[in-house]
Amino acid sequence: MTRVTIVGAGPGSADLITLRGARALASARVVLHDALIDPALREMAPQAEWIDVGKRGFCDSTAQARINALLVQHARAGGHVVRLKGGDPSVFGRLDEELEALAEAGIACEVVPGVTAAIAAAADLKRPLTRRGSGRSVALSTAMTRAGQLVATRGADTEVFYMAGRQLAALSRRLVGAGWPADTPVAVVSRAGWPDQHGSDHRVDTLPEAVVLHGGRPTVVIVGVGATAVTVASSSALDSIPFAPLPAASKP
Ligand code: SAH
Repeated sequence: MTRVTIVGAGPGSADLITLRGARALASARVVLHDALIDPALREMAPQAEWIDVGKRGFCDSTAQARINALLVQHARAGGHVVRLKGGDPSVFGRLDEELEALAEAGIACEVVPGVTAAIAAAADLKRPLTRRGSGRSVALSTAMTRAGQLVATRGADTEVFYMAGRQLAALSRRLVGAGWPADTPVAVVSRAGWPDQHGSDHRVDTLPEAVVLHGGRPTVVIVGVGATAVTVASSSALDSIPFAPLPAASKP
């Protein structure tokens, strides 16, 4: 029997959680949750004990080890434990470490996916991350290495950088170094999926200007094809007249 369910809460408003995630919450005895989740999610598990294990709950250095230990401890105490994580658990969520801790303790678990920030940002902007013919690949990247260094890559037609909000000037320089032309479109979206989401347009070389607009908010940086607006004039996909009547069948 599943004793722990690791649930992706989505990036913002409570209604972005999946039905499967909401059902897991409804049967939870304990919910261990990240800091950035919508308080309205609590209404889905009023019976549960809610424990904040986000950075506001613990100091950074001990956070992950404490979370792993709490997961195991509460699972052993009995009842259904939900580990509620922002966005999708498999994307920059340190899911591997929590899975390892549970496996080592012999505790069965299930993972429920969630809407990751990049996908919520694309929806907010109405800018698809892939485009037929021109945007054939998407990379989800973190700009931060484990050692706290900033790296940038050019591995896909659309590259979405997480965790770069505080270092946009450095990211801009690194993107140029990675081979992105200075005039490549960049869209910056903060608080994607929340009612106060905000998006802004830049180029690789003007990206540092975005700091004043998004400072202090969770932010993703979309670089390349997926950062461009969809317009009728520039979209060949819209020119292909999908609703054109079929030519009349020629008579023999
Ligand atoms: N598992 C999460 C990512 C956690 S890493 C997910 O799938 O979305 C934390 C980073 O995610 C933040 O630094 C930021 O880059 C990004 N992020 C999280 N929530 C966001 C939001 N609502 N809007 C924009 N970026 C967000």
